Amino acid sequence: MTKTNILSLFPEEIEAEPAYRRKQIFAWIGKRGARSFDEMTDLPKGLRAELAERYTLDAAEETERRVSADGTEKILWTLSDGERIETALMRYRHGTSVCVSTQAGCRQGCAFCASGSHGLSRNLSAGEILAQVLYCGESVNHAVMMGTGEPLDNFDESVRFIRLVSHPEGRGLSLRSISLSTCGDAEGIIKLSELGLPVTLSVSLHAPDDETRSRIMPVNRKYPVQTLLAACKKFFENTGRRISFEYVIIDQLNDSPAHAKRLAALLGKYPAHVNLIPYNPVPGKAFAAPGKETALRFARELGGIPVTVRRTLGSDIDAACGQMRSSKNPM
Ligand code: SAH
Repeated sequence: MTKTNILSLFPEEIEAEPAYRRKQIFAWIGKRGARSFDEMTDLPKGLRAELAERYTLDAAEETERRVSADGTEKILWTLSDGERIETALMRYRHGTSVCVSTQAGCRQGCAFCASGSHGLSRNLSAGEILAQVLYCGESVNHAVMMGTGEPLDNFDESVRFIRLVSHPEGRGLSLRSISLSTCGDAEGIIKLSELGLPVTLSVSLHAPDDETRSRIMPVNRKYPVQTLLAACKKFFENTGRRISFEYVIIDQLNDSPAHAKRLAALLGKYPAHVNLIPYNPVPGKAFAAPGKETALRFARELGGIPVTVRRTLGSDIDAACGQMRSSKNPM
């Protein structure tokens, strides 16, 4: 019999009697970070043994940890089938964010990103995503689903993760402290908006026009810019949450004043926030980082649109945006 990973389960799905024990077990995992049933010392020994027969509690084992000069950490995990995934821990003045992977690899194939270079290996289970938060060694304030993978390509497990990590009896992270980043799967965004979860939706836009966007993001051929923005509007209407648009600035590709003007015109009528990300070089990709002043200039050219420039964190350990899974056997 293969054992179920208990990290993927809600209290009511855990088999344990009497019923109040289920919440107790769930709290041991989510609130108290237990990594074995033996640690759950206020459960009867017999129940602990039964749980250990039925379930596993070790979805991810830490294999390596690198610390960047700026304090960012990258954790490499080995999953139960030997698959390897990465997580980043970023420290900001307003708290610590954990950047989780939702898939081992990615099938989207964005031209500038390392994570899709080897295609998709497999989806992660909700428990494997949750393990990255629970076992990263810190009590984090934010969880961003911006590591390897396209969360909306692993829709059910990504949503289950969001509900598990925000469950009041478990880790209890507020939904507003969770960001889901998508390459722009318009159907997935609509499906997510129908759930009404007030998470932050981050959309990797990266270009204001279909021509430029299709050159770097294959997903744009299926969901062009206007289709994508219509889905974003729906998300805002259903959740009341302003959309965060990510824009990776790549030298000579999408960094001209004309691009900035088009972007401002495109987003001007939306409750939007733009997050500019200076391109992080990925070996083997024919793209270059923008000049030092480019992001600030581009931000000014956006006129009145709320904009921030994302600080590059962890690039010396390949933990920065787009650098995860830069080789199939990372680290
Ligand atoms: N699949 C999701 C989440 C993962 S990527 C998505 O596409 O949004 C997280 C962010 O990093 C995305 O905005 C992605 O486009 C960006 N990114 C990818 N490669 C990058 C690179 N080399 N430099 C800077 N940002 C990059």
